[in-house]
Amino acid sequence: MKKLFAVLGNPIGHSMSPVMINDLFSFYNIDAAYLPFQVKEVDLHDAVKGLKALGVSGFNVTVPHKSKIIPFLDGIDELAANIGAVNTVVYENGQLIGYNTDGPGFLKGLNAFLPKITDQKVLIIGAGGAARAIYLTLAKENPLVLNIANRTIEKAWELIKECPYSVFSSACSFEEASESLGEYDLVIQTTLIGMSPKINEQPFPLNKIRNQTVFCDIIYNPLETQFLQEARLNGASIQNGIDMFVYQGALAFEKWTGIFPDVERMRDNVLKQLGGRTC
Ligand code: NAP
Repeated sequence: MKKLFAVLGNPIGHSMSPVMINDLFSFYNIDAAYLPFQVKEVDLHDAVKGLKALGVSGFNVTVPHKSKIIPFLDGIDELAANIGAVNTVVYENGQLIGYNTDGPGFLKGLNAFLPKITDQKVLIIGAGGAARAIYLTLAKENPLVLNIANRTIEKAWELIKECPYSVFSSACSFEEASESLGEYDLVIQTTLIGMSPKINEQPFPLNKIRNQTVFCDIIYNPLETQFLQEARLNGASIQNGIDMFVYQGALAFEKWTGIFPDVERMRDNVLKQLGGRTC
């Protein structure tokens, strides 16, 4: 019987996951379908119960339900519990178990640039949901320093205080981050600045850039934010958010099927979907 997979979000029409995942099912000859469902918060519990009753094999969860879904699942793994958000659910032995592949997906994509972040000095810009997943994933990798710069510094301190892993971290303002930029080996931009309607903005100027530093921006639309453009023009290595998106999907696919898929194929698929609407 055809297996059912889904993604729940609101809105959901813009999601690139259905085309990306259905292409993998056909590539690997798996008789399955992955469908998008727009679900209001008030209907989330019923939607989860319905999917379970229908015998769903697994599903993704996206904005704004990543945290709100947790009480409706039968269990979640340790990293997802610490992050407080689930983006992948697997139906295992009659139970819906939640995982978070956003942080691990970022790390796996990053490894092409920086094979190890152990002993590296890292700055994360932003302290929202995506930053939280990345911070808690990287905190387990023994960086030398893992600092957070955020507009609302209190949110950065909250994240640092809640971290159950031992890591040297401090919170700072954008001004302080800009001044100390040359100290970092890796800088990861996770705020909304650089996306529409703020495509001509960046969190702070990169005057103190060091060209050995790797700069990542988890935004993938536009493919090169102003932040990345300035870093590249100053000679730094840069990475956009496509890898994080592709690898979080690849890790979800692996959890559902046992196959770690062809990420180059996934990347091409996403770039094709972005074609013509990259800002
Ligand atoms: P979020 O939870 O709403 O967090 C937003 C962050 O942006 C906060 O740190 C917020 O600072 C900051 N921010 C927003 N507007 C700002 C402004 N005008 N000036 C300064 N700071 C501002 O969002 P999220 O879910 O973490 O998503 C963040 C970005 O990551 C989005 O662009 C999203 O598309 C992208 N993302 C990419 C992937 C991927 O796979 N590549 C996955 C997830 C998310 P305050 O705390 O001060 O409000």
